[in-house]
Amino acid sequence: MLSDEMRQKLIESALEARHWAYAPYSGYTVGAALLTASGRIYDGVNVENAAYPNTICAEQVAVFKAVSEGEREFIAIAVVTSDGGAPCGSCRQVLSEFGLETLVLIADENGNLLAETTVRELLPNAFRADWIKKSPFTPEGDFPEGTSTGSV
Ligand SMILES: [Zn+2]
Repeated sequence: MLSDEMRQKLIESALEARHWAYAPYSGYTVGAALLTASGRIYDGVNVENAAYPNTICAEQVAVFKAVSEGEREFIAIAVVTSDGGAPCGSCRQVLSEFGLETLVLIADENGNLLAETTVRELLPNAFRADWIKKSPFTPEGDFPEGTSTGSV
C-alpha cells in the first residue's frame, strides 16, 4: 500500500508540476505525478493547443513520459486541479492500459486529498487487450471474407 508520506509526496509533485501547465485557452491548469513500480515519479501537465483537439492532459503526459523511459508498472497517480477535478475518460483509458489497480489520488490546489480511488473504479469494464485477442482478425492482418480493409 501507499504510505501517507508517499501520498503527500505525489500530491506535492503534482502541485509543483502544475505551475508548468500550458493552458492559455481554458485557464484550467492540471498537474499530475505518477509513481512507478521502480520508485520513480514522472510528472505531467496539461498542454493545450490553438487547434483544441491537439491538447493533451497532464495524466497522459505523465504516463507517456514514464512509458518512454521503459516503465510499465504503475503504483499511483496524483492529479491536482483548482477544484479537485477527476481524470477525464480518455485518461482513464490510457491509465487502464497499464493496470486497473493503479491508485488515483485526486487533490485540489491546496494539496487537500479529496478522493482516493483506482483506475478500475473510475473505468468499469475498461477496454483491454483481452478484447483485441477476441477479435476475429489474426495478428497477421488476415481479414475474414467480406471485411473491408480499406484497400481497393
Ligand atoms: Zn484527461
